[in-house]
Amino acid sequence: MNATSTLQPDFLLAVESLTVSFDGFKAVDDLSFYIDENEIRVIIGPNGAGKTTVLDLICGRTRATEGSIKFRGKELTTMREDRIVHEGVGRKFQTPSIYEDLTVFENLEISFPRGRSVWGALLFKRDKEVKERVQEIAEMIFLADLLDLKAAYLSHGQKQWLEIGMLLIQDPDLLMLDEPVAGMSVSERKKTAALLNEIIKDRSVIVIEHDMKFVEDIADKVIVLHQGKILSQGTMEKVKNDPKVIDVYLGH
Ligand code: ADP
Ligand code: MG
Repeated sequence: MNATSTLQPDFLLAVESLTVSFDGFKAVDDLSFYIDENEIRVIIGPNGAGKTTVLDLICGRTRATEGSIKFRGKELTTMREDRIVHEGVGRKFQTPSIYEDLTVFENLEISFPRGRSVWGALLFKRDKEVKERVQEIAEMIFLADLLDLKAAYLSHGQKQWLEIGMLLIQDPDLLMLDEPVAGMSVSERKKTAALLNEIIKDRSVIVIEHDMKFVEDIADKVIVLHQGKILSQGTMEKVKNDPKVIDVYLGH
């Protein structure tokens, strides 16, 4: 008998029969989906479909009424928000929360996970490690030449990248992004698509997005959410030709 095969979690994230009810209104209604390692999954859907609420539930900001969310087999619905981060789930909100008065470097530096207290030669070694990591992330997020600039002077798109960088430096295994390209220029959107394709080499990503062109550039699997339920799912090609989806989008 193979003892190891039975209890291994198959998916990085398993969401099953997830429901949240706000005073009787089900914003998320009996939702199930699964995310693999190194997968990028996009959730689209009209305003009010429940997209942001799904992320709120996964990161522990909102508590489920029913159902389960398992990350590497561990139940998240009863776990504290900071523990969920510690387990390796990072989440970016719709509006960037960066420190405007600090430089790009400092924003990344303060997001570097704190270890045990260190001193002397160890502190020196850690400084070097942090600097190298900041440099590496800054290159990924197209801000390597702007490390000494105050974050307040960045463009809207650059602020979005900085916040993605602040999450990346914590090295999460699952990164969740809520409308990351909202308000970005066409060229910034292209660069963000390239960034996300780079990011998933080491982790999985869930992205909420409206921009169909952007979705086509990044995702192979899409979920269309409507009234807290999955209306359609599959490739972008399949989903956008689904009469149910066309109906919902034209109806808005
Ligand atoms: P989306 O991100 O798809 O636009 P949301 O997840 O933000 O949609 O919202 C889904 C629905 O749930 C909306 O009708 C919204 O008003 C409602 N909702 C979200 N959060 C709460 C909350 N904390 N309390 C009450 N209603 C909420
Ligand atoms: Mg939303």
